[in-house]
Amino acid sequence: YDPDVEMHWQAKILVGADGPHSLVRHTTGIATQARALKDTYIMGDFAQHTSAARDEHDETASIFLEPAGVVESFPLPGQMRRWVAHTGAELMPESPRGLTDLIAERTGTAVDPRTSTMISAFHVRRRLVQQMVIGRCLIIGDAAHEVSPIGGQGMTLGWLDAVEVAPLLIQVLSDQNPAPLDRLENFRTFEQRRRSAARTVAWQAELNMALGRPMSLSATSVQNAVLRAVLSTRMRHRLAKAFTMRQPLCGAEIQVPG
Ligand SMILES: Cc1cc2nc3c(=O)[nH]c(=O)nc-3n(C[C@H](O)[C@H](O)[C@H](O)COP(=O)(O)OP(=O)(O)OC[C@H]3O[C@@H](n4cnc5c(N)ncnc54)[C@H](O)[C@@H]3O)c2cc1C
Repeated sequence: YDPDVEMHWQAKILVGADGPHSLVRHTTGIATQARALKDTYIMGDFAQHTSAARDEHDETASIFLEPAGVVESFPLPGQMRRWVAHTGAELMPESPRGLTDLIAERTGTAVDPRTSTMISAFHVRRRLVQQMVIGRCLIIGDAAHEVSPIGGQGMTLGWLDAVEVAPLLIQVLSDQNPAPLDRLENFRTFEQRRRSAARTVAWQAELNMALGRPMSLSATSVQNAVLRAVLSTRMRHRLAKAFTMRQPLCGAEIQVPG
């Protein structure tokens, strides 16, 4: 995609899957509600062999709730590991050593900064459109809903939009002259369901973020004691599913169509 090259296309239906700065959203005049959150994070990928990983194939995900802010660590393919750390309200410079020093300071884990393959510092924003369908256009993915990356559900939300709308599009495209989509009941239901899913994911991601904000030593001790108590009961399975967003805190398990 080159923003300096102008192209003209004609189509019966336009689907905008063009990301958070969606041109389709702007040109169709779809209104959004957006909010910048005060949290910043730094994220980086490093080789797996750390003092915390049990072996090179360790598939454990770890969440360290520390007074200075959360540190999360997830296994990646190719014996790599992704680390994410809360960095307060100001973005930290994108330096692998800066992140590995912070990991060591907060968790005591030694990660080799020379094995870094990606480093990114980011702000968090929440955005939801008021409609996903307008006339013969519709928008999906981050064009329609941006959620906090903490929780890792943004891309899944977008894929689920696509999975749900694809059969509706096939149906409507069999018509020589399709009606405006926003007049069709099944597209209105699609919009309602997907906006509601985005709201649930955004809310849950922000709850996860709240747990990982910097807090005083005493507040961290209380939070950790409560979590330890919950994790010693059968609730731990539900909590793990909620934290990894496989299940809303209340309601049914998220189903991915086969
Ligand atoms: C730091 C960070 C970490 C994340 N981590 C996770 C995670 O772990 N798990 C997860 O599920 N999600 C994660 N996400 C969210 C995920 O990246 C997004 O939800 C996902 O990429 C959205 O996909 P999309 O296709 O809607 O938009 P995008 O990925 O933004 O893709 C839009 C595409 O459209 C193209 N485009 C834009 N305008 C035009 C135009 N006018 N003409 C032609 N092409 C155009 C762009 O070049 C781009 O290729 C993360 C996001 C961030 C910022």
